[in-house]
Amino acid sequence: MSIAAAVFPNNSTLNNLLTNVDGTKSFSQVLNNVGQMQPQLSLMEKYWASWYCYMNNDILATGIMFFVLHEFMYFSRSLPWYIIDCIPYFRKWKLQPTKIPSNKEHWHCLKSVLLSHFLVEAIPIWTFHPMCEKLGITMEVPFPNWKTMTAEISLFFVLEDMWHYWAHRLFHYGIFYKYIHKQHHRYAAPFGLCAEYAHPAETLSLGFGTVGMPILYVLYTGKLHLFTLCVWITMRLFQAVDSHSGYDFPWSLNKFMPFWAGAEHHDLHHHYFIGNYASSFRWWDYTLDTEAGPEAKLEREERMKRKAEEKVKKTI
Ligand SMILES: [Zn+2]
Ligand SMILES: [Zn+2]
Repeated sequence: MSIAAAVFPNNSTLNNLLTNVDGTKSFSQVLNNVGQMQPQLSLMEKYWASWYCYMNNDILATGIMFFVLHEFMYFSRSLPWYIIDCIPYFRKWKLQPTKIPSNKEHWHCLKSVLLSHFLVEAIPIWTFHPMCEKLGITMEVPFPNWKTMTAEISLFFVLEDMWHYWAHRLFHYGIFYKYIHKQHHRYAAPFGLCAEYAHPAETLSLGFGTVGMPILYVLYTGKLHLFTLCVWITMRLFQAVDSHSGYDFPWSLNKFMPFWAGAEHHDLHHHYFIGNYASSFRWWDYTLDTEAGPEAKLEREERMKRKAEEKVKKTI
């Protein structure tokens, strides 16, 4: 099946006209043709359809798009944090202000993350399209409406957070920590770029929360669009990089949404090596009493003391 069938599944004439079968058309020519024949599409939908028509190879089109999306979003989101680290003005919002990552640390982290991306993450990305087709993840245009996408992405955030909490908590036990998760904790004061600095086993298992939850969703509902998945992965990448930034601003999201974890939450995890296991939200750590930091510890101790005193009172 040609990839154009995936973007225009119910219109074979359009497929034949727009697909770059002989490979002679430039991307802008294909984009122009798509624009003329499908003027009702949004700009994003036109680019999406043109990409698939231009490539005329579904596996390559999805594979390259996902890999480039991941690399571009990850590094473009990390770069502003590197720049902020170089500007002393921002130190007043740094959570651990005495620990500014050096260029050497950035360089070491960059090399390791790039190696991991090419060796560990590149392989699943190339097998992604066949898996999408098998699962029923669609590529057609137009995209689903924004309400459907918002509901699905919100659900993925909640499910990923749940998976992350339990898997991450497990990674702090004995051999899992010693042989796998310890690598991620090399930086007690994290910085944006180190979000994906981790052992390959950790990348795969925690990554299941990001990719596996949408897979379970499509297995259950039978419906999911690849563009929704692209937006979700971008937002999840931003969340991961930002939570490692080391900065808590007055305008940070957790200041407006108290249940949002943010950098303040994850920085404490790196600082104390224990507690605050969730990724996006605070409710798991709050409910299961695993919040990190001296304040949470004090609160926990006082609560235990109160409980013990009440118990003594009851027995008298
Ligand atoms: Zn950890
Ligand atoms: Zn971390």
